[in-house]
Amino acid sequence: MRGNVLLRTGLLLLIILPVGFLLLTPPLMRCLWISRSVTYRPLAGVKDAYTHQAVTTRQENQLRQHVATARNRIVWFWGDRRGQATLIYCPNQSEYEQFCDGGEGAGCSLGLPWGDSYLILGPDGNNADVIAHELCHDELFARLGWWRVKRQIPQWFNEGLALLVDYRFSKPALWDTPRRPGKRPPTESNSSPFTTRQMIKLSELETTRDFFGGDYGHTMLAYQTAASEVAHWLSVVGKAGIPALMDAVAKGDNFSDAYRQLERQRTEK
Ligand SMILES: [Zn+2]
Repeated sequence: MRGNVLLRTGLLLLIILPVGFLLLTPPLMRCLWISRSVTYRPLAGVKDAYTHQAVTTRQENQLRQHVATARNRIVWFWGDRRGQATLIYCPNQSEYEQFCDGGEGAGCSLGLPWGDSYLILGPDGNNADVIAHELCHDELFARLGWWRVKRQIPQWFNEGLALLVDYRFSKPALWDTPRRPGKRPPTESNSSPFTTRQMIKLSELETTRDFFGGDYGHTMLAYQTAASEVAHWLSVVGKAGIPALMDAVAKGDNFSDAYRQLERQRTEK
C-alpha cells in the first residue's frame, strides 16, 4: 500500500515538475514552440535557425555569413562542433527581451536538462563574435551536459573560454602562441576603462551570480579576469588541453583538480 502511494506520488511529480518548470519560464516555452511560431520563420540554408519575420534580406544574408564564420571558429578552437543549439534571431529589442531575461547583452544561451539548447541573438547579435561566443557556451553544454556544467564548471571558465573565440575581447594571439610557464599573456586591458581596479579572485567568480551580480564595472572586470586566466592556461596546456579537460570532467574527475593537473603536467615537462 505504502509502496503504491509512493509510486503514484513519484509519477505525479514526474509529470508536474517538468510542466511547472516550463510554465514558470515563458522564454523557454517560446523557444520550444519556435518551429510553430507564426512570427518566426526558418532561415533558408542554415539548419535549425529561425528569424523574426521583420528581418530584412540584407540581415538574413549577413546572418548566414556570420553563422558560417562562427561555426568555423568553433571547429578550429574545439577540434569539432558537437553543439546542436537552435538559433533564434530577434532584430528588435522588444522581441529579444521576451527570450532573454532583461534583454541584456547581444545574445544569450538557454540549455535544458534533457539536452536541447537555444541560442538567441538580439539586435546587436548579428555578429560573428557574438555567435561564436554563444556557440562556445553551447559546445561546453553539448560535451558535458546540463547537470555537469551546472555542478562542475565555474562561471569564470565558461565565460573565459567563450571570450577566446569572441574577438571583441581577445585576439587569437592571446592563447594561440605557446608561452613560457608563469608568463601572463597580454590582455586587452589597455583599452578597458577598468584598468585601475584590481583583478577579481577566481574563487569569487564561481557562480553566474558572482559573475554578473555586480555593477557594469564588476562584470567587465570579471570578463577580463576570466579571459586572462583561461588564455594563460591555454597557452600552457595547448589546444589539446580543452578536449583533455572535457574528457576528465565527463568521466567524473573534479574540474579544479583536472584543470590544475593538466597545467602541472605541461610545466613539469
Ligand atoms: Zn558568455
